[in-house]
Amino acid sequence: APIVAIVGRPNVGKSTIFNRMAGERIAIVEDMPGVTRDRLYASAEWLNYDFRMIDTGGIEIGDAPFLAEIRGQVELALDEADVIVMVVSGREGLTEADEVVAKMLYKTDKPVVLAVNKVDNPEMRNDIYDFYALGLGDPFPVSGSHGIGLGDLLDEVVKHFPDEAAEQEDEAIRFSIIGRPNVGKSSIVNAMLGEKRVIVSDIEGTTRDAIDTRFVTPDGDEFVMVDTAGMRKRGKIYENTEKYSVMRAMKAIDDSNVILMVLDAEAGIREQDKHVAGFAHDAGRAMIIVVNKWDAIEKDDHTMSDFENLIRDEFKFLDYAPIVFVSAKTGQRLDRLPQLVKDVDDNHRKRIGSSTLNDVIMDAIAINPTPSDNGRRLRVYYATQVAVQPPTFVIFVNDVELMHFSYERFLENKIREAFDFTGTPIKLIVRARK
Ligand code: GDP
Repeated sequence: APIVAIVGRPNVGKSTIFNRMAGERIAIVEDMPGVTRDRLYASAEWLNYDFRMIDTGGIEIGDAPFLAEIRGQVELALDEADVIVMVVSGREGLTEADEVVAKMLYKTDKPVVLAVNKVDNPEMRNDIYDFYALGLGDPFPVSGSHGIGLGDLLDEVVKHFPDEAAEQEDEAIRFSIIGRPNVGKSSIVNAMLGEKRVIVSDIEGTTRDAIDTRFVTPDGDEFVMVDTAGMRKRGKIYENTEKYSVMRAMKAIDDSNVILMVLDAEAGIREQDKHVAGFAHDAGRAMIIVVNKWDAIEKDDHTMSDFENLIRDEFKFLDYAPIVFVSAKTGQRLDRLPQLVKDVDDNHRKRIGSSTLNDVIMDAIAINPTPSDNGRRLRVYYATQVAVQPPTFVIFVNDVELMHFSYERFLENKIREAFDFTGTPIKLIVRARK
C-alpha cells in the first residue's frame, strides 16, 4: 500500500491531522499492534485507495536539538513515503522553521502536498496565500481539530499514488530480516547480497521495490528481501531508535511471508526480541531464528546446544522455527539461508489432502483417547485444511467445550510429526458439528 508521511515543524498539528484522518474521515482498517499507544503507522482508506499513514513526529530522537529532530523526520519521510504532506500553521503564519523544513523537501522528487492547518474559520482562508512562498504549490487549508478541509487534502494526496496496476503477480519468495538495532541485520544483508553467486537487481518502478531488493540464486530461485534499502546505506539519525526499529520490523513482517529474526549471540536475548517475534508469530508468518556474531563468543562443545535451549525456553511459542548460528563477519553458514528460506516458505504454503490428514488424526486419537468431562467424551468427526500461509485446519467435533488446549496441542504435534511444517506456525480451528 502507498505510504503517506506527515511532516512539519513542532506544534503545527501533525498528530491532530494524523489522528483525525485515521479516526474519522477514514476508516481504520487495522492498527499495528504494539505501537498503538503512540501510533506511528495507521492503515487507512480514501476513495477506494488503501494506504498507510506514518506520523514522523512520533519518532523521538532523544534530546536531539530541533534541527536534528526535524531532519530525522524528513529523512524518514523521504525514505518511506510515496506522498509527503507538509503541515504548516495558518494561525502562526509562515515561520523560518517552515522554510527549513521546505528546503529539506526540495531535494526529493516525491510529491509534496502542503496543508495549512488551524484554518478553523472561513475568514482565515485569506491568509493562506503567504505559504505559496514555500514553493511547494497550492496550499490546502484544513482544520485538524474541526475536521475541515481534509477531504480536499486527501483527494489531492491520492492523485499522486503510484499506479496500482504496477503491482504484478510475483513468484518470488518475500522475506525480511528483522531484529533489534545492532544485532547485525545490515551486515547480514550486505554479506548475503555481496555473494557473487547471487544476482541482484534493483527494480525501479513500484513503491515497494524502492525499498526491497530482488535477487536470484544460481539455482534460479527468486527472492525479494523486503525493506532492505535502509540497511544497505547506514547512518540515518532515526534508524537506531528503538521505536523506529520495532515499527519497521512490523511493517516488514506485514509485507513478507518468511521472517529471519536475528539475535545477537554476544548480547543475548532481550525483551524487544520477544515483542517482535510475538508479532511475527501472531501474524502467522514463517520464521527462522538467526543467531548472529557466532564468531564473537568463546565456544566449547556445549555452547550451541546451550544457546539453543535458551532460545527454546525464551521463545516457547516459536518451537517450530529452525535456528541457525551464523557470522556476518566471517560468512559462516550464511550460504544456508536462501535454501532454508525456500524450505520454510514451501512448508508455509503446504496443502495436506483430507484423507491423509484424517488418517493422521484418527491414528492420534487411537493412541491418546480424546478428553471427556462429566461422562461426555470429545468426538472428533473429521478435519480438513482450509487455508495456507499459514496452514490452517478445521477440526469438526461434537462439542467445542470438550476440546482442551493440551489435546489440541497433542493433535498439532501429531500433524507436525506426520508432515514437515518446519518453520511455519499452523492453526487449528475447532468447530462444532451436530
Ligand atoms: P543492525 O543495526 O542490526 O543492522 O546491525 P549492523 O549490521 O549495523 O551491526 C552492528 C554491529 O555489529 C557493527 O559494529 C557490526 O560490525 C557488528 N557485527 C555485525 N555482524 C557481526 C558478526 O557476525 N560478528 C561480529 N563480531 N560483529 C558483527
